[in-house]
Amino acid sequence: MTTVGFHTLGCKVNQQETGALAARFQVAGFQEVSFTERADVYVINSCAVTGEAERKSLSLARRQKRRYSEAIVVLAGCCPQVSLEKATEAGVDLLVGSNDKAKIVELVTEQLQDRSTAVTLVTPWSSDTPFEVISEDFSSSRVRATLKVQDGCDQYCAYCIIPYARGRERSLPLSASVEQVRGLVAQGFREIVLSGIHLGAYGRDLTQATSLANLIAALSAVEGLQRLRLGSVEPNDITAPLLQQFRENRKLCAHIHLPLQSGSNGVLSRMGRRYTAEEYLAVVNSLREARPNIGITTDIMVGFPGESEAEFEETIALVSRIGFSRLHVFRYSRRDGTPAAAMPVQISAAVKTKRAATLQAESLVEALKFNRGLIGRQIEVLVESSEGDECAGYTTSYVKAYLPLSVGTIGDIVTVRVISATSLGVKAAGVRCVEQNIQ
Ligand code: SF4
Repeated sequence: MTTVGFHTLGCKVNQQETGALAARFQVAGFQEVSFTERADVYVINSCAVTGEAERKSLSLARRQKRRYSEAIVVLAGCCPQVSLEKATEAGVDLLVGSNDKAKIVELVTEQLQDRSTAVTLVTPWSSDTPFEVISEDFSSSRVRATLKVQDGCDQYCAYCIIPYARGRERSLPLSASVEQVRGLVAQGFREIVLSGIHLGAYGRDLTQATSLANLIAALSAVEGLQRLRLGSVEPNDITAPLLQQFRENRKLCAHIHLPLQSGSNGVLSRMGRRYTAEEYLAVVNSLREARPNIGITTDIMVGFPGESEAEFEETIALVSRIGFSRLHVFRYSRRDGTPAAAMPVQISAAVKTKRAATLQAESLVEALKFNRGLIGRQIEVLVESSEGDECAGYTTSYVKAYLPLSVGTIGDIVTVRVISATSLGVKAAGVRCVEQNIQ
């Protein structure tokens, strides 16, 4: 049997796409093996969001081709889409853009018959580029599946290469989304994570009536679905109907990833972000009013061109005022072709490193505060893994919980009482099993 190994860099959407690709190769009779083993084919699903991610993708492709020269090496996704010249220099057999991934199996099959030439398929974006469904059958963890329902972004934040790598906003039709969730529930998945490049823009390319809020409502009506979790949603996409879903829909997890990027209005406006620090705070307050104890995680970028010490202090002040359950800290990465790359006053690597360390320390303080707030409370946990005498899973507010093995098995949703907390998660004791894994 022909063997294939996969490696994914970057976001949840990329990870979901690799899972779908693996399913498609399986249907075509390929056997999946580990990426570090000898194989006939290797697929690298690349990332170009930062210079570092692009460098890693390209060097991995070069190395894999050097190590397994007789194999077919495919470099797919954002790297060939935005840096085709550099990707070509990597010397792989197949270069495939972000919107041609569904054709990879076919192209590889052709190459296995005719190895005479390297092939490049990178389609430029156009206004009618359709939403690409790679496969409807995919697996991620045993209890949680990620469903990509949206792709592309029209927001063009000044630092971001993604709109150039992923094209314009487009959505998976609502009926197809419902069908996919029905299929996943039938496969035994207890939690579905909705992902997209600009998830909050879901449906804008479809009909006026289609939105993320009514997608959530439609999917929550699927029988057997236990939990629906949202990927990252932009602050300016938090609408009244979406708040209503958080207020009334118990299947919607009490967690949202709400990128802030900076707490300084000066930096936000230079970034081209569509909210001020005050407006962001108001969105946070409306989410907490709709769903008390909601877990709010965020992305913050340090070292954006021109970011002064005072502007950075504004970010620190806003972060400690909000009390996030976790922060993801990124150092600004200059991306050719974005407006920010041409901005004066690029910040030094040393200053970025120092600011990132300050925020990461703050992130642990915030996470500990949030997790301590759960002590003594009864919460629900979807058990996802077990090790030794403990099992573990996530709360609906996306906090990792560690439980005695006796409390439940993988796939169970259990109610537990939190007894202690660290910045990494909570420890809990069993109360009762809400929903046993029927699989
Ligand atoms: S919203 Fe901004 S940061 Fe997010 S993908 Fe779009 S352009 Fe990039």
